[in-house]
Amino acid sequence: MTWSALCPAGATDKRSMRGLADFDVAVVGGGLMGCTTALHLARGGMRVAVVERGPLCRAASGANPGTLSMQTKRAALLPYALKGWELWKTAPRWLGMDMGFAVRGGLTLAFNDADAALLEAVMEERRAAGAPIEIIGANRARQIEPGLSRHVTLASYCAIDGYANSTLTGKAFRVALKRDEVDVREGWPVEGIERDGGGFILRCADNAVRARRIVLAGGVWLKKMGVWLGVDLPVECRVPQVVVTERMGPVMGPIIGVANKLLTLKQAANGTILIGGGWPGIGDTEVGGIHAIPKSVVANIRLARHAIPAIGRARIMRTWLGLAAAGPDWLPLVGDLPGVADAFVIGAARSGFTHGPFLGKLLAQHILGEEPEMPLFDPATRIAAPADPLLPGR
Ligand SMILES: Cc1cc2nc3c(=O)[nH]c(=O)nc-3n(C[C@H](O)[C@H](O)[C@H](O)COP(=O)(O)OP(=O)(O)OC[C@H]3O[C@@H](n4cnc5c(N)ncnc54)[C@H](O)[C@@H]3O)c2cc1C
Repeated sequence: MTWSALCPAGATDKRSMRGLADFDVAVVGGGLMGCTTALHLARGGMRVAVVERGPLCRAASGANPGTLSMQTKRAALLPYALKGWELWKTAPRWLGMDMGFAVRGGLTLAFNDADAALLEAVMEERRAAGAPIEIIGANRARQIEPGLSRHVTLASYCAIDGYANSTLTGKAFRVALKRDEVDVREGWPVEGIERDGGGFILRCADNAVRARRIVLAGGVWLKKMGVWLGVDLPVECRVPQVVVTERMGPVMGPIIGVANKLLTLKQAANGTILIGGGWPGIGDTEVGGIHAIPKSVVANIRLARHAIPAIGRARIMRTWLGLAAAGPDWLPLVGDLPGVADAFVIGAARSGFTHGPFLGKLLAQHILGEEPEMPLFDPATRIAAPADPLLPGR
């Protein structure tokens, strides 16, 4: 491949001709994980490109309803989720934009003895991991949210649960990345990655990008990206739905969940009620999320109405689906790509909108040669490391 073929029109400047690589790091995938990693790498002094096949943060990072709940995270993730929560709160400082961060408190409800026992056990574990969660009786729960169902027997409460507006992420990161001189290439689908001396070449249709290091940040498409480099990443694709009602007067204050069932429920500032929690639709990594399953939609709404009966008065306006990546053990993959020197991976984080900004910061610290503030989620401990297929003998 010739150099002119590697450099897109307008990108062949003197600087790129001199070095081994155009960039110190190319991040493949411009979702929340890729964008925060890129931002912190650029602030650490690296020349960074984000190569995104569509617009920034339009996949999972823009399709999620932005719930920041400490009650839905595994204990091992809570220290990271608390840091992520803090980053959304302080987004005007580090990202340059208010992300609609709001604290509403969160209630998780039990309706019978079995669910109450489970709730107590699970929330105790999460409280021990640092989340400010308390177990409260049904009367106190109804003081916090008078609209609750009279069938509630026990609840847990987390005063800091809230949300941020995920639809602002693309706009916020586009401005922030450009301000920090990250080369943002939207509409550039990467089709393969090859070794190039000590670095990599990312092939994108008629163009290419060269970089010394790469970060794979492709959400549910991480599995496909791993294959380019001979690594079988343990990433599954889920297709969760979100249902939204018409605008209503105030119906509920806190974020509501139900022990042992799929529900996250909240009323947005504009009065609409967002009903989610992970009920599945139909889709995959090739076609996206394409069909809502009527039974799933009905069950999701029924559960919401069981928790907050006034929701029964609302008309449903629409439902949408997104693709969510899930790693093994509900834990993300953040660290070195096993067996491929100078390649890194970040993603497969369930509920990753909450801790995503912090995971990106951690990976950037690792790549910059600093000690990460908290341990990474080393992919090598979840998969067998193959020999580098692109670099024989390494
Ligand atoms: C419906 C839904 C509801 C959710 N609800 C919540 C919630 O309430 N709270 C919470 O904390 N989390 C929630 N999540 C999870 C959260 O949204 C994700 O964990 C997080 O956004 C993942 O970010 P990401 O950057 O890893 O992936 P993505 O945002 O999916 O980004 C991956 C990017 O890679 C790009 N890409 C893929 N292939 C290529 C290629 N070949 N070349 C170039 N670019 C490529 C894609 O276009 C995409 O932009 C939800 C997810 C979904 C789908």
